[in-house]
Amino acid sequence: MISFSCACSLCGREYEFTPERMLCDDCASRQTPDQPLMGVLEFRPEGQLPRDWDSLDLLPVEREYFPPVPVGQTPLWEPEILRRETGFPKLFLKDDSRNPTGSLKDRASYLVAAYARREGIERIVVASTGNAGSSMAGIGAAAGLSVKLFLPASAPPAKLVQSLQYGADLIRVDGTYDLAYDRSMACVAGEGGLSRNTAHNPLTIEGKKTVSLEIFRQLGGRVPDYVFVPTGDGVILSGVYRGFEDLFSLGLADRMPCCVAVQAEGSAAISRALDAGSFGTPVASSTIADSISVDVPRGGLFALGRLQRHGGKAVIVSDREILAAQRSLSSRSGLFAEPAAAAAWAGFVKMKDEIDPGATVAVLITGNGLKDIDSAKKGVSLS
Ligand SMILES: *Cc1c(COP(=O)(O)O)cnc(C)c1O
Repeated sequence: MISFSCACSLCGREYEFTPERMLCDDCASRQTPDQPLMGVLEFRPEGQLPRDWDSLDLLPVEREYFPPVPVGQTPLWEPEILRRETGFPKLFLKDDSRNPTGSLKDRASYLVAAYARREGIERIVVASTGNAGSSMAGIGAAAGLSVKLFLPASAPPAKLVQSLQYGADLIRVDGTYDLAYDRSMACVAGEGGLSRNTAHNPLTIEGKKTVSLEIFRQLGGRVPDYVFVPTGDGVILSGVYRGFEDLFSLGLADRMPCCVAVQAEGSAAISRALDAGSFGTPVASSTIADSISVDVPRGGLFALGRLQRHGGKAVIVSDREILAAQRSLSSRSGLFAEPAAAAAWAGFVKMKDEIDPGATVAVLITGNGLKDIDSAKKGVSLS
């Protein structure tokens, strides 16, 4: 049995995790505007896993509260043509576009929904560039929860329509994701409900770690040498690290992988911070890959800390490289990914000459191509 404690990821102060206080009081009081969230909490497992463990044994909510929806257990592809063409015989694609709402975000929504059910909370509030919102709307629908969603004007129409189909209460914000985030936090303060905002609610980090647990098991109980992770707010990256950390600290894995944060040229705050050692003044983001487009990465400090601690890397790709990667991934493997997810593939293509071809490489495909047809159109000619 595994039990969890909860502590500040910056100062280490221990907390009991409650819906009312999701950040460390001390560190959050030093929050400055336009900087990543201070005082994001983290979970720490203790105890022993049962011999026939699965991912739910490593999550901080009991099994019976999870809604009846098939999140995770996504396939690990062995793309024959890409393996041959790149010269990497141990290349894998972790296909998280196969989650119920079409993105990896379902892993976080699943845990948040389970927590809400355990605590008797009926309403979830979330700001999103699209996928976190449509994910919470869908998983929330399966769980019988009501979901209030703040989406920026720029969200791709498919993600918006998807959210409405799931029955979410949708507020369209005339501005960026950053404004939608502020509006959602004001809503939680004023009307109540559980925040599913990425990084703010540490369950969003913890839920995403299941992707690493699955990769480990699918590789026959081994840690890959490299994991390529498309990165905006840095929460998927943090979650990926959390999964491998658990495997390592519980003695199941003997090492950590090298994680590579792949960022778009027009939205590369975490990569810049890794070079500089800290976060600077925010730069207005601009990229075709909406899911990794953020001015201020909410989970930036957590992600940066993990990259530094575990020797992670970052690589930057242009929109042109992302569109080319979307097309090469689709046409050479049969996996149609949305631009943010194709960015991970673009990152591998860009970095592969620096990597030993014998390495085991997992590329995280985080979202489905059908979620943003307008961008995908740019990579093909329609006559
Ligand atoms: C959210 C998302 C990302 C980036 O995750 P962060 O936690 O913001 O870094 C990448 N790809 C897809 C498809 C996403 O939805």
